[in-house]
This record gives sequence, structure tokens and C-alpha cells, in this order.
Amino acid sequence: MVSSEYERRIAARFATFDQDGNGYIDRLDFSAAAKAVLAEFGTAARSDKGQALYLGAEAFWQGMAGIADRDGDQRITRDEFVNSAVKRLRDNPDRFAEIARPFLRAVLDVADTDGDGRATIADTARVLKALGASDEAAQGAAAALDTDADGKVGEAEIVPAFARYFTVPE
Ligand code: CA
Ligand code: CA
Ligand code: CA
Repeated sequence: MVSSEYERRIAARFATFDQDGNGYIDRLDFSAAAKAVLAEFGTAARSDKGQALYLGAEAFWQGMAGIADRDGDQRITRDEFVNSAVKRLRDNPDRFAEIARPFLRAVLDVADTDGDGRATIADTARVLKALGASDEAAQGAAAALDTDADGKVGEAEIVPAFARYFTVPE
């Protein structure tokens, strides 16, 4: 049985990917996400971190398109997202983690202002807000990402959490 709660959660995930809100997910949404994170931290697109983030965003888009863009029109519609992406990612969360990992690693690098390989909870919340989360949701989600409670968010914490968030259980 498909619950309305399930559908609400799917809609929220779709909206997260559809950064420009035009009703489908495409490459521009991923580059918009990269741009928003760079702007939040004042990082130049031409910098090493900026380039890594755009490359990670492109790899993420290619991976998602490979899974979900069934008609090959370079757009993932809501229907493709629900019927391909969500089901396939749920069946294989590890694959999703690998698709997202270069992007997430690059995001952490941008948000890692002291170079220790992790981002503070406050800086992680800034990332989430840059990607469209509300202030309250961003604070809560950033704190929840710090599963070892050391006050910072690292790759080992963010990648599985991200995969869990998007592989919505029915
Ligand atoms: Ca879009
Ligand atoms: Ca398509
Ligand atoms: Ca931590």
C-alpha cells in the first residue's frame, strides 16, 4: 500500500533535487546546487574546491540520469523519479552512496573551513540552507548527521545518511 506519508516524503526528495523548481531534475539543478554552496562559503568556482564540486555535481547528475532518465531526454521527471530512481535506489543504497560520494566529499571540502576534513555542525547547516532547507530543518538535520557526536560532520557520516534519506522506505 502506498501511503500519503510516503508520497509526501517522495515529493520532498524530488523538490530537493529540483533546485530550480521547474518540475524536472536535470544537469542545471546539480550545477545550481554547486553554485549555491560555493556562494554560501565565498568559494570561487575556479578554485580547486570549486572545480571539484562542479565535477562531483556532474558525476552525481550522470549517475542519477543513468538510473532514472528512462527516455534519455536528459531530464528526470517526477514520474521517472518515483518509478525508477526511488525504487532502484531503495534496492541498492550502496550504489546511490557511490554516485553521491564525490559530490558530498567536495561539499564537505568547501564547508571545511579549518582543513581537518570535516565540517562543523553550523557550517553543515549553512550547506543545507544553501540547498533550500529551512533554518530549523537545516539545524536539526546537521546535528543529526554528527552521529559520533564530535561536533563535526565527516564523509563517513554524511554519505550513508544521505543515501538513507533518499532511499525512502515504503
Ligand atoms: Ca529543475
Ligand atoms: Ca527523462
Ligand atoms: Ca562527527
